[in-house]
Amino acid sequence: MKRAAGKRKRMAQLLDGKVLSAEVMENLKARVEALKGKGILPGLAVILVGDDPASQIYVRNKGKACEDLGIRSETIRMSGDTTQEELEAVIDRLNKDEGIDGILVQLPLPKHLNEPAALAKIIPEKDADGFHLLNCGKLLCSLPGTQPCTPKGIMYMLKSANIPLSGREAVVIGRSNIVGKPVAMMLLQENCTVTVCHSRTQDLASHTRRADILVAAVGKAKFVTADMVKDGAVVIDVGINRVDGKVVGDVDFENVAPKASYITPVPGGVGKMTISMLMLNCVEAAEKRAAL
Ligand code: NAD
Repeated sequence: MKRAAGKRKRMAQLLDGKVLSAEVMENLKARVEALKGKGILPGLAVILVGDDPASQIYVRNKGKACEDLGIRSETIRMSGDTTQEELEAVIDRLNKDEGIDGILVQLPLPKHLNEPAALAKIIPEKDADGFHLLNCGKLLCSLPGTQPCTPKGIMYMLKSANIPLSGREAVVIGRSNIVGKPVAMMLLQENCTVTVCHSRTQDLASHTRRADILVAAVGKAKFVTADMVKDGAVVIDVGINRVDGKVVGDVDFENVAPKASYITPVPGGVGKMTISMLMLNCVEAAEKRAAL
């Protein structure tokens, strides 16, 4: 494992999303070949409504990952004035398409559309993002189901580095449905004592300083500073912020890395894992189809 760059002597180990996701993808290639041997080609459909520039990049990266794995990829681009009925008709068509194992609606949707209703239309078996209420409920109840990609990728990183979780203090900053809440549930499942902080939390640093595992999912560049981090903490930076044309995380990496035991870089950390976990969800769904 690489050492994080910085000035002081003691440095955190880097949790390298590039290396780990490449390993996941190699493993998936073999599973895709095995599926092809059974006459099954996994398929992922991505629906993009409108022309949000960040969403365009994410959708392109997802298509590229499908290409790398040699699986079917369909991108449905819909105009920004698409109606709810039109969107749901496309989801219905994909629900019925036997060659599609995963359906993903790229978020955020334009404001006039009903996001929860659209996500609820995707049949749970094809819910590649793990955002369907049934899969959310399964996560809450510790039942097997499709799990959201970013939290799943975070847990994959922690487990790959053999970081002990049971009984440790985990603090999650952020309570979104796609990152903060599900990663909190997954950490709880691993027997961490979990605190979820958010925009109304009083004296945030008093919580974060207790964390053995600190997850930052805020969306504010360099929000987590060294004084907020306990010596030896594992720091997971989920943030993707664009500053002066550069992508930076929610953690002040340069000053936090010397204090942490492990840290994820941005870019090249959690973001890389998110895409490989999406591919994993899709291949797992295709394997279930093959077993039918
Ligand atoms: P969100 O905007 O839905 O949620 C942000 C959370 O931060 C909220 O729950 C809010 O309560 C909390 N927050 C805001 N200000 C705060 C403050 N001052 N103190 C404490 N908490 C505060 O965002 P999200 O969708 O969860 O994403 C968070 C970040 O992660 C964004 O930068 C996003 O781009 C990034 N992200 C990255 C990936 C990836 O693959 N790496 C995936 C999803 C999101």
